[in-house]
Amino acid sequence: MEVFDENWQRALVLMAHPDDPEYGTALAVSRWTRQGKEVAYVLATAGEAGIETMAPAQAGPLREIEQRRAITHVGVQELEFLGLPDGRLEYGIELRRAFAAAIRRHRPDVVITLNFERTFGGVYRNSADHQAVGRAVLDAVSDAANSWIFPELTDPPHTEVQMIAVFADGAPTHCVQIEQQDIDAAIAALSEHREYLAALSPDSIEDQARAQVEMVLGEHLPARVGFRVYR
Ligand SMILES: [Zn+2]
Repeated sequence: MEVFDENWQRALVLMAHPDDPEYGTALAVSRWTRQGKEVAYVLATAGEAGIETMAPAQAGPLREIEQRRAITHVGVQELEFLGLPDGRLEYGIELRRAFAAAIRRHRPDVVITLNFERTFGGVYRNSADHQAVGRAVLDAVSDAANSWIFPELTDPPHTEVQMIAVFADGAPTHCVQIEQQDIDAAIAALSEHREYLAALSPDSIEDQARAQVEMVLGEHLPARVGFRVYR
């Protein structure tokens, strides 16, 4: 893998659910904010359908709060929820328009999203929401730069996105070096999703968070995380 180009200032993480940035992307985000870069998160949904034992009306607001706590550990100051329906995202015009609008509001140099293949590593099925979001993000970068595709958007076109980086893609092309403090920050961020993790497993929140982050890092020394980069 090539070294991830860090000659940029603003990144926008565009993903489907609260906690999506926490399974690995946050490791790189921690490093980048330590460098003085600005990273904003825009999440399509509040993840309200993500806790089987809790009704959406309760789970959505709770998961937004958990995400707001999580970003404090990795230097992220802007967090926005688009309020789209969790579990029911559809690739199409509505999603592309919502993401194009977000890109025009935040005006990033780099856009980051999550694996949108059918599986993670050919083993675990990927969610329908992740598949829809990733495809729409790729298109929305072009849509945001075009004056005529969504003329109803009020912010001016944004043509400065240098690259799109996809975390957990099956064929990563670029890697980001990670320090111990980034690992600690990412574990702390994931640990803030307490109600969500508690519903998944009886193991302690911290043990679950550490195991998840260490799984991302695998055996790589020095520690690094990989992204597939589209120019
Ligand atoms: Zn997700």
